Amino acid sequence: VSVSGLARAGGHSGAPSLDPDDWDALRADAHRMLDDMLDYVADVRERPVWQPIPPEVRARFAEPLPRGETPLSEVYRRFTADIAPYATGNVHPGFMGWVHGGGTAVGMLAEMLAAGLNANCGGRDHIGIEVERQIVRWVRELFGFPETASGLFVTGSSMANFLALLVARTAALGPEVRERGLHDAPLTAYASSAAHGCVIQAADLAGLGRGALRRIPFDAAHRIDLAALRARIAQDRAEGLKPFLVTGSAGTVDVGAIDDLAGLAALCREQGLWFHVDGAFGSLGMLSPEIAPKLAGLSEADSVALDFHKWGQVNYDAGFLLVRDGDAHRASFAAPAAYLRRETRGLAAGSPWPCDFGLDLSRGFRALKTWFTLKTFGAERMGAMIAHTCAVARHLEARVRREPKLEMLAPVALNIVCFRYRTAGDADALNADIVADLHESGLAAPSSTTVDGVLAIRAAIVNHRTDAADVDRMVDAVLHFGDARAR
Ligand SMILES: *Cc1c(COP(=O)(O)O)cnc(C)c1O
Repeated sequence: VSVSGLARAGGHSGAPSLDPDDWDALRADAHRMLDDMLDYVADVRERPVWQPIPPEVRARFAEPLPRGETPLSEVYRRFTADIAPYATGNVHPGFMGWVHGGGTAVGMLAEMLAAGLNANCGGRDHIGIEVERQIVRWVRELFGFPETASGLFVTGSSMANFLALLVARTAALGPEVRERGLHDAPLTAYASSAAHGCVIQAADLAGLGRGALRRIPFDAAHRIDLAALRARIAQDRAEGLKPFLVTGSAGTVDVGAIDDLAGLAALCREQGLWFHVDGAFGSLGMLSPEIAPKLAGLSEADSVALDFHKWGQVNYDAGFLLVRDGDAHRASFAAPAAYLRRETRGLAAGSPWPCDFGLDLSRGFRALKTWFTLKTFGAERMGAMIAHTCAVARHLEARVRREPKLEMLAPVALNIVCFRYRTAGDADALNADIVADLHESGLAAPSSTTVDGVLAIRAAIVNHRTDAADVDRMVDAVLHFGDARAR
């Protein structure tokens, strides 16, 4: 068994550094780990999508803080036995739950390289910042934004939607709001009731209160009702409130609907409101010539939240915020600090820094895995992959429509299919059981949601590995478990 120098028999070398004494031993461990993980990804279809964590494995993660050393090879053995088999499952093509990207081997390698550089991308003049600026330029180009637009990697769209609300708030009330606070500025924001929960949470976190986020009804296609939106804005103005922000959805989380973004852009322009788009997964549809027309109006947004870790298949996490007016973005977060002094040369040059555009000061190198992914595969292949997930969703829809025991519950706008097993009994309970049966079988992992008040089996085809045979296997399993339970 190879062990790293740090853990040689006889204990550590006594040197304070955490580097190994024997790099060759570490190298042997490292190569084995890399080979194993490549196999893990390559052979993913041979394993269950997901399996429950056995109680004894769970219990092994309740041990006391290790006081002494453990050989790396032993720690890795624990990883192989107790961690790798019980992951989320979203690498697997049978994973169709929530909105999870599948990741790629390329992204995995880039993560390793980024960890080796161990760059802190909060600021300073180094290549990590420049690679992030390259991604900002690419997103601007893809979305048709001007050169004055700014961008920032964040954890995910939950954070990006929150930051966007803060930028819109500062733009509405002026930079003084950062000093004196909201007081009782009666701000109101708007989104459809199909918007993601984090859009509501952003109003809460910013101190506006959840109630300040007006939830507007949606139509049969799950798109925001523009007339109802207009009426609510007028009503709020009449009551002396201060409407400032409208959030459109480019791909709602439940069914993948796209709001009328061009209509929202025009309304916001007319009303003098900030137009934000929650494009968490849907906005990267811009990569596909087939899907881009459905996103018309996106290029007119004041800001867009998106996730490279969903349709972009970049390994977790890689959320992103794009803001049309980079100055307004910076004015919402930049704060002078003696210890972050900027220079015109040396490592402290290169201002503005990413920390001027958000609240994270220490930040990893998320741009590297995104750069590797976009460079390696190119925009055309990424777009074709995204269009393929929609084709697989349409295949699934057609299959559901052919099965008399199943029924569709929502239109398929992009890559999300909501359906259920029919029963004269309690359909919600039966379909929830079918979803849990599927998870425990390891065959497939859709999730569930509520559509028009009823529980739906929800399959979001996000993983680039998922093909028609995978969704057919999922439907076969739904019929199997549904029949077994309906008997
Ligand atoms: C996933 C998602 C979010 C939240 O993004 P995270 O990256 O999970 O924080 C917000 N809105 C929509 C539409 C999403 O699909």
